[in-house]
Amino acid sequence: MPHAPATAGSLFMVVAPSGAGKSSLVNALLAQDKAIKLSISYTTRQPRPGEQHGREYFFTSAEDFLVKRNAGEFLESAEVHGNYYGTSRIQIAEQMQAGTDILLEIDWQGAQQVKKQFPNATGIFILPPSIQALEERLHKRGQDEPHVITRRILAAGGEIAHAPESEYVIINQDFATALSELTAIIKAARCRFAQQAARNASLFTQLGIHTALS
Ligand code: GDP
Ligand code: ADP
Ligand code: 5GP
Repeated sequence: MPHAPATAGSLFMVVAPSGAGKSSLVNALLAQDKAIKLSISYTTRQPRPGEQHGREYFFTSAEDFLVKRNAGEFLESAEVHGNYYGTSRIQIAEQMQAGTDILLEIDWQGAQQVKKQFPNATGIFILPPSIQALEERLHKRGQDEPHVITRRILAAGGEIAHAPESEYVIINQDFATALSELTAIIKAARCRFAQQAARNASLFTQLGIHTALS
């Protein structure tokens, strides 16, 4: 069974402008799919009301972030809306080795960096039904200062311009529909030949299926 653990897990990247609904969709997915793990990013932004260190993010200072970045601890990192964000390399490596599916909630800059290292990573872009809806959702969520909301809305167009870099696009108008589309994408990715061969190496061998892995 050589190589199986290296590719058994799939890597997913959910990318969206702030307020498109990515965290709501991802949290709903995680609640119904125990086989997929969310990578908890490091960030230098302030926690929002109710956010917990180690649950939504590992909150840290810019100094500590830069030390970690210089030490090569991040698989990818980027400056987004005036704060640093980064994905821990160790977390990902350990989980991928165990064959776990991993989901990254990252911005387009980070997605580009990950894709270079993991070309099979699946990119999923979440679009709002309109810019007005995006604005309304950010205001209604009510967790960011007004100037922070304005900054995020102004950035949305530039972020949306990177939607073509993702393989999949979900328009988050009706939440239940968007969630079922996200679920379908994850399921389809798990049925890719390479993933099935890696997860079921002995069955494939028994059935006489010869793959590059066996
Ligand atoms: P949200 O957009 O309302 O969820 O606000 P956040 O402050 O939580 O995230 C702001 C942006 O940073 C979003 O585009 C996130 O996808 C992105 N982001 C979060 N974690 C990471 C990370 O580890 N790496 C990168 N590159 N971007 C991240
Ligand atoms: P993001 O993580 O992309 O910034 P959130 O998941 O925090 O976005 O969603 C932004 C706000 O929009 C939240 O208040 C959320 O409850 C709401 N929301 C998410 N999806 C929908 C939807 N389909 N219709 C209406 N509101 C939504
Ligand atoms: P409320 O905050 O009143 O529960 O919901 C506000 C609006 O967000 C409603 O129209 C609701 O349908 C919509 N919505 C859609 N999906 C979600 C979701 O995942 N989470 C939340 N909180 N609201 C959602």
